[in-house]
Amino acid sequence: MDQHQKGAPPLPPVEKLRPGVWSIPVPLPMTSLGHVFVYLFEADDGAYVVDAGWNTDEAFGAVESGLALAGYEITDLRGVMVTHVHPDHYGLAGRLREASGAWISLHPADAGLIQNRYIDPAELLTRMSAMMRRAGAPEDLIESLTRAAMPVLPLVDPVLPDILLEDGDRPEVTGWDLKAIWTPGHSPGHLCFWEPVNEVLLSGDHVLPRITPNIPFHPQAGDNPLGDFVASLDKVDQYPAREVLPAHEHRFVDLHGRVEQLKAHHEHRFVEIVAALRSGVTTSWGVAERMAWSRSWDSIAGFMKRAALAEALAHLRALERRGVVREVDGEPSTWELLED
Ligand SMILES: [Zn+2]
Ligand SMILES: [Zn+2]
Repeated sequence: MDQHQKGAPPLPPVEKLRPGVWSIPVPLPMTSLGHVFVYLFEADDGAYVVDAGWNTDEAFGAVESGLALAGYEITDLRGVMVTHVHPDHYGLAGRLREASGAWISLHPADAGLIQNRYIDPAELLTRMSAMMRRAGAPEDLIESLTRAAMPVLPLVDPVLPDILLEDGDRPEVTGWDLKAIWTPGHSPGHLCFWEPVNEVLLSGDHVLPRITPNIPFHPQAGDNPLGDFVASLDKVDQYPAREVLPAHEHRFVDLHGRVEQLKAHHEHRFVEIVAALRSGVTTSWGVAERMAWSRSWDSIAGFMKRAALAEALAHLRALERRGVVREVDGEPSTWELLED
């Protein structure tokens, strides 16, 4: 969350980053992020990419022309390693596979979400509206917030992966020794990839240079996504990255510094939430309303508002695990501070 809603940044050029490694910016519709980076690895038997983009003609064209600059045709694509199941990373993967015969890989925790999220979302919508009610969302907003992600469905080709990558697995990318690092938090099956020759970390949405990734608690998240996220930050911090290649914004150095900033950001959020509860707020919605966002709470709408609420819930769950707060059942449920 905390995404700035400024105009989308201009599309950077396709660049060769290292021998055999390319960055291909792929434009995103409907988002201030502007683009997702598809990273290409050259191999003797073709090309392999990390992430794909939304399922739009423009995105397909951007991948195709990026491949061409690196000397490949779409039919040379051998593998698509998707970092996580969000539409801007996974949406186009099926179409790339169809055009090339490439395999698609995902972590099993995200592969397991495809059916309920993209193919038959009825049950997920029911659970989402129950979550809204429990959180204390105003009755007149529940329906629209529940359905807030539905407009993206046409931009996702809901295919199942050919390969499941677990933590530490090495995808078959000819001539490379990429390693999948499971980094749950932003999504339950998020993967980063470590490339040991150039010592670069492909960080997906897990670590971005400027914005803080949204860490949502919702029916398709784990029990404590924020706790998972912080543990996943410590996990990638073990790698001696010379440079981080994120899925959005821009490349950066100083992974450790960024990890520390992100951890500090969430500690600050905890302080904010405890202060909100001390001031007498009791529901999850009330807590979200009191937290500082990049815009005023009233001007946040639709999917962004749901993401903000889900982020507040993720912090409350993490505080519950720490023994700082307790949730009292009800509709809405209420939160109590456990003072010692
Ligand atoms: Zn994402
Ligand atoms: Zn993303």
